Amino acid sequence: MLGLMQDQPLLISSLIEFAERHHGGGQIVSRRVEGDVHRYTYVDAARRARQVANALASLDLGFGDRVATLAWNGYRHFELYFGVSGSGRVLHTINPRLHPDQIAWIVNHAEDRVLCFDLSFLPLVQAIHGQCPGLKHYIALCAAEQLPADSGVPGLCSYEAWMGARDDRYVWPRFDENTASSLCYTSGTTGNPKGALYSHRSTLLHAYGAALPDAMGLSARDAVLPVVPMFHVNAWGIPYAACLTGAKLVFPGPALDGRSVFELLEAEQVTYAAGVPTVWQMLLAHMKPAGLRFSSLKRTVIGGSACPPAMIQAFRDDYGVEVLHAWGMTEMSPLGTVCTLKNKHQALDDAGQMQVRLKQGRAIFGVDMKIVDDDGGELPWDGQTFGNLLVRGPWVIREYFKGEGGDPLQDGWFPTGDVATIDAEGYMQITDRSKDVIKSGGEWISSIDVENLAVAHPAVAMAACIGVPHPKWDERPIVMVTLKPGATLTREELLAFYQGKIAKWQIPDDVLFVDTIPLGATGKILKTLLRNNLKNYRLPGL
Ligand code: ADP
Repeated sequence: MLGLMQDQPLLISSLIEFAERHHGGGQIVSRRVEGDVHRYTYVDAARRARQVANALASLDLGFGDRVATLAWNGYRHFELYFGVSGSGRVLHTINPRLHPDQIAWIVNHAEDRVLCFDLSFLPLVQAIHGQCPGLKHYIALCAAEQLPADSGVPGLCSYEAWMGARDDRYVWPRFDENTASSLCYTSGTTGNPKGALYSHRSTLLHAYGAALPDAMGLSARDAVLPVVPMFHVNAWGIPYAACLTGAKLVFPGPALDGRSVFELLEAEQVTYAAGVPTVWQMLLAHMKPAGLRFSSLKRTVIGGSACPPAMIQAFRDDYGVEVLHAWGMTEMSPLGTVCTLKNKHQALDDAGQMQVRLKQGRAIFGVDMKIVDDDGGELPWDGQTFGNLLVRGPWVIREYFKGEGGDPLQDGWFPTGDVATIDAEGYMQITDRSKDVIKSGGEWISSIDVENLAVAHPAVAMAACIGVPHPKWDERPIVMVTLKPGATLTREELLAFYQGKIAKWQIPDDVLFVDTIPLGATGKILKTLLRNNLKNYRLPGL
């Protein structure tokens, strides 16, 4: 017997319709590539998203055709999120930090027909358009008068001229909720990138999950600033979750340095922000010397890489901001876990609560997880035993776009490539990426632990730990660090700092002081590059 409730498909268009009707006056504020600040409301965004849908119809695009973007976080990108997906096309957000050849490869692999881009990416588009014969339309996200005269890009037109004159009446089509809605490629640190193809259903369920109080906990009283980019995993779903809750949206555009982010947080009275640890490191480095304080920020969700305990502590103790440590991946839309306390933890003292907060957190309803050994046997949730982390759920990938890489699942579970522990309360903690974990004398050393301790030293700005070959122990850890401006530190001082904080055999064998630590396109340390650069490095005494 079937239930007798309405069979309404879960469609992305319903989010913008809801926001328009119930939070119409809610603000969307964007720092533009042009440098100024633009503001309008959900009513304006919904109207322009419908204009985009009408403009796309004029391009003779079929259902499911891909429309690519190379754009920062801003209101025009937001309109494309709904105009493209809502009308049944697939929004392909491209990470502009990738190498141009890789971008051209992705465009061709995705068979993109249209490319919409911020003018700051014009040189990139000029570099790749010759390699992308399938791209038929180029649209610069600007006003007609800002369009450069001879861009060299065939048929380039301005977004405002293209969509601005269209009818703003449009009835969003109804279709199967499993229809593809957006596409995002993994960073592809090894081999070619692979596409995660989200559906309307997965996106809506993820938005519901993300908005839950113990997940992102967004509300109509929040002003949310996603520093996390709309070009990578849909800014962690915040544009959708904001529509669902009616939160004010504040988009930082291309200005992601500490000063610009701080100014916007204050000017727009942002209560909630989201980003990777490196972004917040820049923000804190700007604020601390100048003695700046937040007047509105209450919570920030930090993920994408392990958030160092020192950062959680600084936000909490120095600025009164609660850090929500979160974990996820492109293949998971991306949210998997968020760290919030349970009732029983309220009674713990600060140190006890901190032990909980620095874990990656509990699964959001919808995400099932387990840890297994190399034979696939399930491991206990005791907070000690670590194993390969597997997940499944309605917003977890089943297969990569075009079946690349074959069947990724193990008995219906997606192997994340992360090594983790899970405690009896269900709090997951990432030990390492399986390829980054250091195997020394048959034991494992977590590079994340070594890095977190280094950045807890007041002189250290950033740290990267990798394993290097050792004839007896197989591998030994070394740590590379960058120092804070004006700070001094010796190798011996840092090694002494580790004493008593981790087991002796986990303390790195060497410290290398470097000017910068290379970051990949999504803000993660490029360990493959570091390992490659240190191919000829020899450990002291060998
Ligand atoms: P994203 O760029 O959205 O973070 P990716 O798919 O590029 O997604 O990377 C996912 C990987 O990033 C995870 O498998 C994990 O190794 C790492 N990661 C994400 N969040 C965290 C976190 N909070 N702590 C440690 N590692 C994390």
